[in-house]
Amino acid sequence: MSRPAAAVFGLLVLTLLPSLSACNAPGAAPPGLAAAVDERRLVAADAEPGQWMSHGRSYAEQRYSPLDDIDTGNVRELGLAWSFDLQTERGIEATSLVVDGVMYTTSAWSIVHALDAKTGAPLWRYDPQVPRAKAKHTCCDVVNRGVAVWRGQVFLGALDGRLIALDAKTGALNWEVATVDPALPYTITGAPRVVKDKVLIGNGGAEFGVRGFISAYNVDDGTLAWRFYTVPGDPALGFENDAMKRAAQTWNGNWWELGGGGGTVWDSMAYDPQLDLLYFGVGNGTPWNREIRSPGGGDNLFLSSIVAVRPDSGEYVWHYQTTPGESWDYTATQHIILADLDIDGRQRQVLMQAPKNGFFYVLDRATGELLSAENYIDINWATHVDMASGRPVEVPGARYRETPYLTYPSYLGGHNWHSMSYSRDTGLVYIPVLDFPANYGQPEQFRYNPGVANTGADGIAGSLPDAQAERDAMRALIKGRLLAWDPVQQREAWRVEHSGPWNGGVLSTAGKLLFQGTADGRFVAYRTDDGSALWSFPTQTGVVAAPITYSVDGEQYVSINVGWGGAFALVFGEFVQSDSLPNVSRVLTFKLGATGELPPVEWQPSVVFNPPPQQADATTLRRGYALYQDVCMGCHGLNAVSGLLIPDLRGSAYLWDEQGWQEVVRGGKLAARGMAAFGDNLGTDEAEAIRQYVIQQAHRGREVRRAASE
Ligand code: CA
Repeated sequence: MSRPAAAVFGLLVLTLLPSLSACNAPGAAPPGLAAAVDERRLVAADAEPGQWMSHGRSYAEQRYSPLDDIDTGNVRELGLAWSFDLQTERGIEATSLVVDGVMYTTSAWSIVHALDAKTGAPLWRYDPQVPRAKAKHTCCDVVNRGVAVWRGQVFLGALDGRLIALDAKTGALNWEVATVDPALPYTITGAPRVVKDKVLIGNGGAEFGVRGFISAYNVDDGTLAWRFYTVPGDPALGFENDAMKRAAQTWNGNWWELGGGGGTVWDSMAYDPQLDLLYFGVGNGTPWNREIRSPGGGDNLFLSSIVAVRPDSGEYVWHYQTTPGESWDYTATQHIILADLDIDGRQRQVLMQAPKNGFFYVLDRATGELLSAENYIDINWATHVDMASGRPVEVPGARYRETPYLTYPSYLGGHNWHSMSYSRDTGLVYIPVLDFPANYGQPEQFRYNPGVANTGADGIAGSLPDAQAERDAMRALIKGRLLAWDPVQQREAWRVEHSGPWNGGVLSTAGKLLFQGTADGRFVAYRTDDGSALWSFPTQTGVVAAPITYSVDGEQYVSINVGWGGAFALVFGEFVQSDSLPNVSRVLTFKLGATGELPPVEWQPSVVFNPPPQQADATTLRRGYALYQDVCMGCHGLNAVSGLLIPDLRGSAYLWDEQGWQEVVRGGKLAARGMAAFGDNLGTDEAEAIRQYVIQQAHRGREVRRAASE
């Protein structure tokens, strides 16, 4: 609290608080309760630097810890204190919470673990028993990004759309509520937040066809307090509020018939207790392609927007749309950070975001006024943001109406959900950057197919080149880095180039350290001021989640959930860095002087190619190719090249079994393992065309491997 920039946000907040000794204040958690987090403690999070009580550590979501026992001078003595096996082979994206010595974390399939934060000893486990067939509705793996805690309860958003309240002491179920229509392809992967005794939760599913919203539920009994839709519904049914009425004027056509318009609130939120504003980020449209979604154009509010509402009522206050009329899956659901910055000699209360579209935005968080925007990676869909209108100036052709457009950044963005961090010491924002393009094209035809991906972008245009030499050349374009960004000057301070994209979220500390896990299996500590690496630990698996730090009995710990997975890991199997870097899902916790070691990894997946003879004609193969890209690619990988977290179909024994293939693909024979039935989405001949395409790709894969080994 002694650093000038550090203190500003916290102090402003503290002056508004009741005295810290007022433990019997209304809504306060009784002493001795597990997870005894309440408004008083969370608003004053900096007064308790040893805790990590909310997703971004505090309501401002800075992911900066005032702890400094571990610093640039001693970080080389950091060693493994304990590890805990998360017992899954799917992606791990959770930020753990630590309250009064207890860690609450999640793994794939929305399973919650409570652990002793000092030893890693398990206290309880809660499995919401998400039906595995729900994987059909996930764009980006069966992940979960963490829980919220409040006054003795742990809140979980389960993949199937339930909001669940658990007893923090025992893990017993207190209540659960369906936050979505279970018949629709909604999912929840994001962490809830709690503000003023209300649990806030959004959802995902805009790739498939849903209408996005955020809901607030009363902590005590799970009753719905309010709901804010992010896109308008069918005008014939009337609008929920004036914001929806206004938003509907920015849409054309019958968007509500294509699944609901999209605009899901699947990750970021932040809260300013002084302004009493809740902020959240809104996702892409259904389908991505505006030509189909809203023929004739329109901004399509509130897609790709940051929205501020009142947390008591959900009443709209302001919005800023990052990508008007979005057509590229350029969500604004990315991490939102609140801070107070000196801009042009004036102290400004700002909100910062680096959404997928490649621009870093600094907004006035009281009003939504755009203060500045500069691109944090090289992009080619827009030249700049016009400060007068606050709108991006688009490059002709970027909307891929007539010809495909190789677009920077891709639909995974210049930055995705991986958490950033704002260091109050350096004033820099650290961004886990993705830097690679995607090719978008207008499809020859579009048919809304309920329950599966409906991007409205041509699947074959977006696929990989057939010639291996071209794919190898493409590999060089697939980059990722850790970027230190000066939000006041709006320019890069330094960068660390990684061996590829999809690296983990970041944490900065008052020890002048920046921690990040990497896709190539390392957990690294850098200096916050210049990015030099000071320490590294081999994690045996790719890391995508974000680290935390906390203290127990006066000793500082740094903890990270490791385990490769998520959208890039599934879709870009061709470019996953190594077949020998499987998912090993664990919590790894470090402290000074510890010397723990991990057991050796034995699982080394690979594809065994043994396809039947290729017999299909060119028309069937082309049809199977297009269907595969639309329906199967999101989980099994572009061009049937899997990231190996999910079976690579080119090695499937069902390639030899036409009937069995139908039973799996259309009938749901393997639904219990996550392969749902697609009988409503694919006809028998369509499923067979996909089989023939995969057989073709298996032959191709075998030839490429043979050529590489010669
Ligand atoms: Ca999306």
